Amino acid sequence: AGILNFCANNYLGLSSHPEVIRAAAEALEKFGAGLIFSAVPSIHKDLEEKIARFHQREDAILYASCFDANAGIFEVLLTPEDAVLSDELNHASIIDGIRLCKANKYRYKHMDMQDLEAKLQDAQKHRLRLVATDGAFSMDGDIAPLREICQLAQKYDALVFIDECHATGFLGPNGRGSDELLGVMDKVTIINSTLGKALGGAAGGYTTGPKPLIDLLRQRSRPYLFSNSLPPAVVGCASKALDLLMESNAIAQSMAAKTQRFRSKMTAAGFTISGKDHPICPVMLGDARLAAVMAEDMLKRGIYVIGFSYPVVPKGKARIRVQISAVHSDEDIDRCVEAFTEVGRKHGALP
Ligand code: PLP
Repeated sequence: AGILNFCANNYLGLSSHPEVIRAAAEALEKFGAGLIFSAVPSIHKDLEEKIARFHQREDAILYASCFDANAGIFEVLLTPEDAVLSDELNHASIIDGIRLCKANKYRYKHMDMQDLEAKLQDAQKHRLRLVATDGAFSMDGDIAPLREICQLAQKYDALVFIDECHATGFLGPNGRGSDELLGVMDKVTIINSTLGKALGGAAGGYTTGPKPLIDLLRQRSRPYLFSNSLPPAVVGCASKALDLLMESNAIAQSMAAKTQRFRSKMTAAGFTISGKDHPICPVMLGDARLAAVMAEDMLKRGIYVIGFSYPVVPKGKARIRVQISAVHSDEDIDRCVEAFTEVGRKHGALP
């Protein structure tokens, strides 16, 4: 009671939106709790079409999670004659998906365009090149330099894949994601994302992109073929969340303003916040113990945040990761900054 949650992936507050909950209940009532193996009713097809429309792509395919979408794509798309170039800080599920394919693997330094270019040059000897990156990186709150990545991809004839789990629904003027934010919606070839974060659901993921690729995934992607489809309630929920986002960009816009408020007030208070323009705001502290005791003291002041340290982040880069949500009021954000300032002074993180 009275505790403010500043560590949820429910970026837009849609998981408790009355219309989203009603849509889930209606789908449950109409289609039942689960589905028999591989039986896909019309609501699944409708959601796939809606996802494609939302991202302005040709088609989409649903998975039980984005982990599955990432596990299922690379093996289908890439052969031993091809190459995949992956940011070293990509999410574990991209790394695992890449491990499953037989393409030649290149790992470029985090968001380092010189290194990517050098690796693209080396990869010219292969048949097809795919650059794979998180659109937004969840540990650092930084956004991939997609404009530069797409320019390099054009120069070296490569495809671009982005994982938009921490971007779909709220980055960009209409919440379409990091490709909209950076003006490259027509240059990114493939998007994988989740229904389980900003879209408010508890599960679900998808791939959206060119129709021939989606058709191929339906025939060959193992997590799609050999696992259950999404429960109807989850489909109902995501479908309503997308309707709300396509009706108005007000929620996405309020998110950007709140993010800005927190980042600028914390910086003025003397803290270092990693990343830029993203509601993931890592308060950089360095020392693992300091991050842990400060998070504990924040909870005593009614603010729930989590400290991250090695091995989740590199040694010496411990932090408290704050996540701003559209449901936080300006007063909530100010209360969080005040608590950080008090706790930071008490533990010597601030002078
Ligand atoms: N990709 C990224 C960047 C993530 O942060 C996550 C979730 O933590 C996933 C993929 C997996 O998403 P899901 O929970 O839908 O499996």
